Amino acid sequence: MSNSLMSTYMPLPVAFESGNGVYLKDTEGKEYLDALAGVAVCSLGHSHPEVTEAICDQARTLVHTSNIYQIQHQIELGEKLCKLADMDKVFFGNSGAEANEAAIKLARLYGKKQGIETPNIIVMNGSFHGRTLATLSATGSRKVQAGFSPLVSGFVRVKYNDIEAINAIAKNNSDIVAVLVEPVQGEGGVIVPDADYLDNIRKICDKNNWLMMLDEIQTGTGRTGKWFAHQHSDNAKPDVMTLAKALGNGVPIGACLAAGKASDIFSPGTHGSTFGGNPLATRAALTVLNVLEKSDIIENAATMGGYLIEQFNDALNGVESVVEVRGLGLMVGIELNKDCGELVKQAFENQLLINVTAGKTIRLLPPLILTKEQADTIVGTLTPLIKTFV
Ligand SMILES: *Cc1c(COP(=O)(O)O)cnc(C)c1O
Repeated sequence: MSNSLMSTYMPLPVAFESGNGVYLKDTEGKEYLDALAGVAVCSLGHSHPEVTEAICDQARTLVHTSNIYQIQHQIELGEKLCKLADMDKVFFGNSGAEANEAAIKLARLYGKKQGIETPNIIVMNGSFHGRTLATLSATGSRKVQAGFSPLVSGFVRVKYNDIEAINAIAKNNSDIVAVLVEPVQGEGGVIVPDADYLDNIRKICDKNNWLMMLDEIQTGTGRTGKWFAHQHSDNAKPDVMTLAKALGNGVPIGACLAAGKASDIFSPGTHGSTFGGNPLATRAALTVLNVLEKSDIIENAATMGGYLIEQFNDALNGVESVVEVRGLGLMVGIELNKDCGELVKQAFENQLLINVTAGKTIRLLPPLILTKEQADTIVGTLTPLIKTFV
């Protein structure tokens, strides 16, 4: 532990020295099953051989040049991402918050181009979009916002999974330019909306000429068992989509993708980033996409996610403190009827890494390469802890 670090985190008393697939090894050589993957980041597992090789090779060749020059891997990654997501253009930053900042700026410019002087964006209760000022203002959590007023204005908040609330705003507010929403709320407690929620948002956005902006920072890049979570819906292709977390398997990178009328909003000088899309990060992300494309890892996420939910439902059947087991792909939540942050420590003591979010929801975000045996270990380790948790 260090006294020189600002106390923004409360780390567990452990440091990991190495990782291999689903496992992490601490400085004492003790091995842990990582069912969190650096918060949905290391989807291919730790130290993935192909990604590791790409990073090493690129580090030996060229790490950074700046966007004053063309960057070959950035161009290639952009083309590949647009093709996979059926989008037209992309901007690269270094994190999820930055990807959302780009989306928010884009939406404001989009409004200005239609003569809307004070453009507003609809956001959701319980949402999480990042820790920068604009993204924490968009975030639907008082805890995230506490102490940081004055917040950035221009956000109108509604209940998640409530189409009528959005319709009501459409009737009364002519300054709306976009809806920003997570296909599944992650930090908010692994909240999966109704199957037609995104389709209905698409319809409202089309009707009102708003941008549909999906924050797929946590749900994207295979996590939910599809390349992007909105692909579970029939008709929910967004105008803007943000990605980060798993895109670089641990190398920091964020992306803001745009399609159609949203794709030509920025012009030179309106947005930028020194590090954004540098050769190292884009080479790593390109390798991640290639690995996902040629493997059945995304399918495995769907299968293993379903398996985990089924196994937990079985194992926890009749346990009074369990409110619900839910999820999509390998984004799995177990909601208890009381705060259970303490379980993170108990699981850790049993060499299992998990997370608790929104106070009462155990969140599992394991690498997408998880095997059935490893899933069984997660269920076998966690079930007795939940049963005896008081
Ligand atoms: C993690 C996350 C962010 C913020 O990403 P950072 O890389 O931490 O800035 C934004 N939105 C969602 C949905 C996230 O899960």
